Amino acid sequence: MYNPSVSGGSATSVSGSRLFRYEVKGLRQNAETDKMDNPIRKSGSVFITVPYSRMNQEMQRITRMGGEIVSITPVNEADTNGQSAPAATQQDNGKSMTQATPKAKKKDVPVNLYKPKDPLIAKVISNEPLVGEGGSGIVQHIKIDLSGSDYHYVEGQSAGIIPDGTDEKGKPHKLRLYSIASTQHGDDMDDKTVSLCVRQLEYQDPESGETVYGTCSSFLCNIEPGAEVKVTGPVGKEMLLPDDEDAKIIMLATGTGIAPFRAYLWRMFKDAEREANPDYQFHGKAWLIFGVPYTANILYKEELEELQAKYPDNFELTYAISREQQNAEGGKMYIQNRVAENAARIWEMIQDPKTHTYMCGLKGMEDGIDAAMAAEAEKNGINWDDFRKQMKKEHRWHVETY
Ligand SMILES: Cc1cc2nc3c(=O)[nH]c(=O)nc-3n(C[C@H](O)[C@H](O)[C@H](O)COP(=O)(O)OP(=O)(O)OC[C@H]3O[C@@H](n4cnc5c(N)ncnc54)[C@H](O)[C@@H]3O)c2cc1C
Repeated sequence: MYNPSVSGGSATSVSGSRLFRYEVKGLRQNAETDKMDNPIRKSGSVFITVPYSRMNQEMQRITRMGGEIVSITPVNEADTNGQSAPAATQQDNGKSMTQATPKAKKKDVPVNLYKPKDPLIAKVISNEPLVGEGGSGIVQHIKIDLSGSDYHYVEGQSAGIIPDGTDEKGKPHKLRLYSIASTQHGDDMDDKTVSLCVRQLEYQDPESGETVYGTCSSFLCNIEPGAEVKVTGPVGKEMLLPDDEDAKIIMLATGTGIAPFRAYLWRMFKDAEREANPDYQFHGKAWLIFGVPYTANILYKEELEELQAKYPDNFELTYAISREQQNAEGGKMYIQNRVAENAARIWEMIQDPKTHTYMCGLKGMEDGIDAAMAAEAEKNGINWDDFRKQMKKEHRWHVETY
């Protein structure tokens, strides 16, 4: 079985501790042409991670097996932002092997500008329902005024909210995190607001059977425009969007997990955003697979569909509507069923170093998606856990579930 992690064992020398990843096409393995014991896939693109000390040797082996090196990327230096080295570093007969990509520019990611002990006291601008008639539960889009403060953020971060009041011990409530649903410019494009997408937590107490409502989510879902709200953060670097305008972004969302993806998609495709960000004119591929119980629960449906209609080649929108659609076995259509249906395409996409996969929403979504991808990886003779770990290491597999 092909192991995409490291070819040629562990690095030994100082320079050998630098790792490079080869994207290779057209490999054929043949016992006569390849005497080394690294098993390799027969067709398609494969990724081989090679310590510096073995680069020459590995290139020669790839050549022997009829492979063509498409790109060489330094793994542990520059490849932290979805940027691979240009394919210009061709085989060069084992001489000059790679001109490593210049270090990816570190993003200016603000963190913890406002701490729980000294939160920003901001004002709510608006609080709008997002669930249509016939949908389940309450989900609100809440826009908060940041003007006059230093609060700023980038797409993919979260904000903390401290609800008013005290807990059962009489202590102030602790903060809860909410994914930011707006772009860094805010919904009004004036860099002065942050928007959240909040579902009111509601469940039956398992002992008493009484309906219980979540503290902070109820506070936010019921908050009136003009009311004050304590905001902390921003926090989080797990869900940042790469700067690469040509990236492939796969987004897997359930319910309010759409929040960071709304921010990404608005940044990619909204006219005002494209005007405001001349250095980010997205022309890659964005694919959102969105799981909800009912059509009426498709949050931001109209706008998502508008963007999809305007950018049909760049934005694919796939719903999994569990209470209305059926999967191939006649059961409910959950997000993992859609992932399974599309697994071959997703698999092909994630072979490309430009592809980033993001997952956001209910914690329960992870296992089903993993199982669907594991089955597809196995078909390709690859162990999914290893592959996912490698993607994670390359900052191409991003998960924020709660
Ligand atoms: C990084 C991150 C991002 C998040 N983003 C969002 C977002 O964008 N939108 C959003 O709506 N939420 C989001 N959340 C979740 C959010 O932080 C809160 O956890 C959520 O709103 C519930 O808080 P609460 O104060 O209303 O509930 P609480 O009053 O704190 O109640 C929660 C507690 O209720 C109990 N409970 C919950 N369900 C059940 C059940 N079925 N049976 C028995 N007991 C139960 C559990 O003990 C649980 O800890 C995010 C969380 C994280 C960590």
